[in-house]
Amino acid sequence: LDNAIRVAPLRLSDSWRKQQVEAALCKVQLTGAKVLRIKEVFHSEMERGIHQQPSSLQMENTYIPELPDGTEEGLFLALDLGGTNFRVILLELANGVVIRQHVKHYHIGEELRLGCGERLFDFLAECVSDFVRSQNLNGTRLPLGFTFSFPMIQKGLDVGILLTWTKSFNCPSVVGRDAVQMLREAINRRGDSHVEVLAVLNDTAGTLIQGAVLDKRTAIGLILGTGSNACYMERADRVQHWEGQRHGEKQVIIDIEWGAFGDNGVLDFIKTDYDRKVDDNSLITNSFTFEKYISGKYLGEIVRVVLVKLVEDCVLFGGTASDTLLTSGAFTTSLVSLIEQDTVDNSCDNTSEILNKLGLSYDADDIAVVKFVCETVSNRAALLVSICTAVLLERLDRPDTTIAVDGSLYTYHPRLKSWMNKYIRLLAPGKKFRLLLAEDGSGKGAGLVAAIAVRLKQRFSE
Ligand code: BGC
Ligand code: MG
Repeated sequence: LDNAIRVAPLRLSDSWRKQQVEAALCKVQLTGAKVLRIKEVFHSEMERGIHQQPSSLQMENTYIPELPDGTEEGLFLALDLGGTNFRVILLELANGVVIRQHVKHYHIGEELRLGCGERLFDFLAECVSDFVRSQNLNGTRLPLGFTFSFPMIQKGLDVGILLTWTKSFNCPSVVGRDAVQMLREAINRRGDSHVEVLAVLNDTAGTLIQGAVLDKRTAIGLILGTGSNACYMERADRVQHWEGQRHGEKQVIIDIEWGAFGDNGVLDFIKTDYDRKVDDNSLITNSFTFEKYISGKYLGEIVRVVLVKLVEDCVLFGGTASDTLLTSGAFTTSLVSLIEQDTVDNSCDNTSEILNKLGLSYDADDIAVVKFVCETVSNRAALLVSICTAVLLERLDRPDTTIAVDGSLYTYHPRLKSWMNKYIRLLAPGKKFRLLLAEDGSGKGAGLVAAIAVRLKQRFSE
């Protein structure tokens, strides 16, 4: 295993520098033994979580008991909140697929993302009514699915109590409150649209649902974007957390919330000083440990923190950093993807351009070091995601499973997909699977879940 997961060796003309750099990155490279230990820990955290025992994995019941059956039809609204753009989408469904859609993006500024909860939800309601007006649908009753991509405690398909903010949001007054109720209240305060909030869901659930439309074998939804998380189809009898009346569900989607994996210390054996720094610089510290190792919001920052350390050790850029390099958040994950593209192409064009823009002076060895750091940090992320995905595949016990994936990091990083294919195969030997890009699951999936909600309502009111 050690050999299969190792990154390509660093080639430098100066062997002392090479040694120093390798030593500084040694702990970021996972060993085979650590990989197997993480696999075990993830498995046991999942078991504990699903049995409502203390665990860093929430294993939340989403109350979505079925996948689209091909009868979904009509007009639906979808809201998507999770990244910095908020989207309102009108979806027309026929025979369980989206045949037409209109999308409008609304930027959510920092004052709203980090401010008072009521103001945030008033803004969301304002966007909904702007959108509905622009589509001439003011008078129409529209069922709505709300993709709210944060950890929630769900007590039903339309109840989602925010557990904690993640990524770029932190409006403390919302924590502990039901996002659906806050949205409904904000919409009612305006009183100018007839939308009916029927379901709240996580983006991973939307991705699984949209994946299932594309490929019936889909049983896992995975997001590798600003944040990271996965959900899967679980046997309903294995799930202890149920509230309200049950209707003989055979299966249900479980939202793992793996971003929080390790928040209880179970992953401390892989934590490096770089990870501690990244956490210190983050919006909510000591929270979402695993997400900070793997997702788009943080990969660039890990690379930056490593580069700064190498400069301090005088093995990079002649020991001189630039102000930009010293600024937290200035090295985005999109830069990591560009530099990784250089490694794929055996080029250094992107890397030199980026170093110029960052105001750094460099030589050929510096370029090799920067590429090596990006590769090492990216490879660790790919491994970590693959370990957890392999555990899921083994749990599912199906002959053939499709994993629906979406998110900016997965889409734009040039090597994650191939690493994941290789590592998952290695860690879940004999399990047949494929990674399927399910674009915009958080939008389309929300419409489909709203349609499923309508169906369930009708079925149980008969
Ligand atoms: C959230 C998850 C979400 C993931 C991907 C995480 O920060 O906690 O609910 O699925 O980001 O957007
Ligand atoms: Mg729970």
